Amino acid sequence: MAANSEANSDTEDQDKEYVGFATLPNQVHRKSVKKGFDFTLMVAGESGLGKSTLVNSLFLTDLYKDRKLLNAEERITQTVEITKHTVDIEEKGVKLKLTIVDTPGFGDAVNNTECWKSVADYIDQQFEQYFRDESGLNRKNIQDNRVHCCLYFISPFGHGLRPLDVEFMKALHEKVNIVPVLAKADTLTPTEVKKKKIKIREEIEQYGIKIYQFPDCDSDEDEEFKQQDLELKESIPFAVIGSNTVVEAKGKRVRGRLYPWGIVEVENSAHCDFVKLRNMLVRTHMQDLKDVTRETHYENYRAQCIQSMTRMVVKERNRNKLTRESGTDFPIPVVPGVADSETEKLIREKDEEVRHADHEPESHQHHHDHDHKSEHSSVHHEHSDPQSDPETPSDQIRDEAL
Ligand code: GDP
Repeated sequence: MAANSEANSDTEDQDKEYVGFATLPNQVHRKSVKKGFDFTLMVAGESGLGKSTLVNSLFLTDLYKDRKLLNAEERITQTVEITKHTVDIEEKGVKLKLTIVDTPGFGDAVNNTECWKSVADYIDQQFEQYFRDESGLNRKNIQDNRVHCCLYFISPFGHGLRPLDVEFMKALHEKVNIVPVLAKADTLTPTEVKKKKIKIREEIEQYGIKIYQFPDCDSDEDEEFKQQDLELKESIPFAVIGSNTVVEAKGKRVRGRLYPWGIVEVENSAHCDFVKLRNMLVRTHMQDLKDVTRETHYENYRAQCIQSMTRMVVKERNRNKLTRESGTDFPIPVVPGVADSETEKLIREKDEEVRHADHEPESHQHHHDHDHKSEHSSVHHEHSDPQSDPETPSDQIRDEAL
């Protein structure tokens, strides 16, 4: 009897210690499966390098049914146009909305200087749209069109990177996660592939191009995982082969390319890095690509945007000191979390400048006015950031903008 009651109190103790937050991952899982996932992939590089074929092979869909190919004459003056294809794919109840952004016409014209510009503009436009949406009143159901990854196709026929490749990657590396791929790898022997990869990696380093960096794996990961991670890093640029046809190889039907001398299998890792690339994109790094887009590339864009808005405000303030008193004339929306250290520093410096420029009686007047204003906006101060000093200039800006 005594033993029994002891056992009972044991389970009670356990129950007491079990709050239940261990189920959080399941809750998150259920919610995200219900919501579905989305991913936006951009493919860039000279036309004819096999971009559309590879995308179709990657996601086993025909995304380019309605594509119209231009003849040589039409391509001479062609500008880079951006096209978007969206497909909803489902696997074991998990839905993925996949958007492919293509850049037909890239490198096609006779004069290709700055042909990366429309691609860069496109990426910026998506950031801008998101920035507007999340600063707006209704932040529910924001359509996120930010580009999470750009597969950049490098020609297998050149000697490493061409000037256009360097220019493109340098222009975009701070806006998007660039993953370089060596196109049509079946046109090269394994030794040539190896040499080209080394050359391209060296050039990427030499020209200071910042491609997508796979996150370092934790020291407590198992050996197999570490080995896979190392192999992945050494595969850059992924040597890829695409095919839209199914052929028969050793009694099995596989995606491949049939030549008089044999069959190249897309999904055979002895033939190319297709499977490695697909696993990286879909199975292992999709979430990281999205995180880096949000935390690094979008944050950079947002910070730049806020800084230029601040500059506008400061200019406006200098131009018309009355703005300070009227307090409602700023032409910009209030952005949540403006307390960016760079921005605050900038505003503080500018505030100092303005204060020095003011002559004595006026600056006294300003101080008085400011005190007066902070009385009126005390409620707002409480809401904006209770920890921040109510006298800081950035708070003034937020107040005035409101
Ligand atoms: P895109 O203009 O970059 O989209 O290129 P396409 O996917 O339209 O491919 C252009 C041509 O290259 C087509 O004739 C394809 O059959 C061929 N092609 C595509 N992928 C490969 C590949 O991996 N190896 C080889 N040898 N040819 C390919």
